[in-house]
Amino acid sequence: RATAVHDIDTALLRSWPVPMPAVEGDKEIRGHVLVVGGSSEMPGAIILAATAALRAGAGKLTIATGQSVAQLVALAMPEARVIGLPEHASDGFSLDAVASLDPLAERVDAVLLGPGMRDEPATARLVHALLPRFDAAGTAVVLDACAMGALRYPPAGQPWRFERPVVLTPHAGEMAHLTGIAKDDIVAQPDPQALDAAYTWNAVVALKGARTVIATPDGTLYQHEGGNVGLAISGSGDVLAGIIAGLAARGASLQQASCWGVALHARAGERLAERMGTLGYLAREISQEIPALLEQVA
Ligand code: AMP
Ligand code: MG
Repeated sequence: RATAVHDIDTALLRSWPVPMPAVEGDKEIRGHVLVVGGSSEMPGAIILAATAALRAGAGKLTIATGQSVAQLVALAMPEARVIGLPEHASDGFSLDAVASLDPLAERVDAVLLGPGMRDEPATARLVHALLPRFDAAGTAVVLDACAMGALRYPPAGQPWRFERPVVLTPHAGEMAHLTGIAKDDIVAQPDPQALDAAYTWNAVVALKGARTVIATPDGTLYQHEGGNVGLAISGSGDVLAGIIAGLAARGASLQQASCWGVALHARAGERLAERMGTLGYLAREISQEIPALLEQVA
């Protein structure tokens, strides 16, 4: 199957502007993001993702994280409303969390699940319990890290296909884990792998790496080359997922949010590398580059 690959370059981005709020708009109109994740060992991931969502221009932020770390997260992220979820000893959220999250579905525009979550089966159960609610409410859904395990632990044991498309952001290792295909084969043939996955799962699949490809369920393929090796750092993917969720909350389509998110993340890395050096900038420093980059590209 020969599919044309679209370069995510400045020309493409300029022809595809991110929705801007009216100048008199309030924070509601700029989009409400819900970020679900964090665990006692990784509460920082959710802070990275949530910060990125706000830097991408979303207007309102709710974080749902484990009860044991909720107060700490709230202090670290004064911009957020923070909800504490019941936890298992295994560091996953219990299904009782659904009752806390359910009423939010109507209120938020985009939800990101996964950053800093650790118990894959428990996370998958939670995702499956929540998806119908988000689908009914028309909420944009981004799944990263452990939350992509929804594909590996489907409720009825059947191969899973999303009812309504979501965004998935696997790196090659995660893609191998999700598909059962060897990582070397994913790395050797990322384009057909991403296209197959997007079609089979009914998802926008951003297969990350030095070159990132984004495939959509209808068979459109985008590629982005750029950024730099300094972006290969803990927390970097959490920032990317947060940017995508923030753009989706502003009203960008899933594929637009993914393409813009990947480009902004990479350009932020380039700017940090220029200013600070190729290695050693921190994931938490990526987000602060985003507002200026959004204006520069737009
Ligand atoms: P994660 O592995 O989930 O933390 O995500 C890492 C992020 O950094 C992804 O967005 C990758 O595309 C990006 N990245 C990793 N390695 C490189 C590289 N060598 N050059 C450019 N971007 C990279
Ligand atoms: Mg990651």
